[in-house]
Amino acid sequence: MDFTKLATALRKREYEVSCFETGADAANYLDAQIDGVTVGFGDSMTLKDLGIYELLSKHNTVYDPAHPRDGMDFYTTAPLCLTTDVFLTSVNGIAETGEMVNIDGTGNRVAGSLYGHKKVYFVAGANKVVPTLEEAAHRARNIAAPLNAARHGYKTPCAFKKDHCYDCYSPQRICNAQVIYWQKMNHMNMEVVLINESLGL
Ligand code: SF4
Repeated sequence: MDFTKLATALRKREYEVSCFETGADAANYLDAQIDGVTVGFGDSMTLKDLGIYELLSKHNTVYDPAHPRDGMDFYTTAPLCLTTDVFLTSVNGIAETGEMVNIDGTGNRVAGSLYGHKKVYFVAGANKVVPTLEEAAHRARNIAAPLNAARHGYKTPCAFKKDHCYDCYSPQRICNAQVIYWQKMNHMNMEVVLINESLGL
């Protein structure tokens, strides 16, 4: 995929942008950029695919709800991620016009992506890129969320059928909030790392 149009649109919206052909190149870049700081993770299969937790843990203090430290769990780890120097997550959809979309059930992912850090990295593969904001929102709700619910084994209609959102009232619903990132948040550095591979959900 040619990221030229998307990168231009994102820069116009005040994000830094880095583009890589492979996930390995992107992982090496992040490993070099993030050093000697505190790092928080927002749930992301993309970051998991890239092995970012393992890389950064060697030379940073990393909090990841998916990798709780001894004696901790999701609920004690997730709050710590909200005030780290650096926060890493992905997005459920990116429009070529530069808007990004994330859906969240618990809120730690979107909360950490909006405020409280010196820098936020959004890491996304080419599979997340669609032409318009409407399609990015549609992707988040009807592709990423059902796949994510299925991955967790949640009892939601989308997890069983994996076809689209049913706007359910399940106690395990994972779509309790949807955030549209129109532009970089004020007073925070934000970088979008684009990777020309299919990564995450
Ligand atoms: S609202 Fe319910 S059915 Fe729709 S994607 Fe979210 S969990 Fe699935």
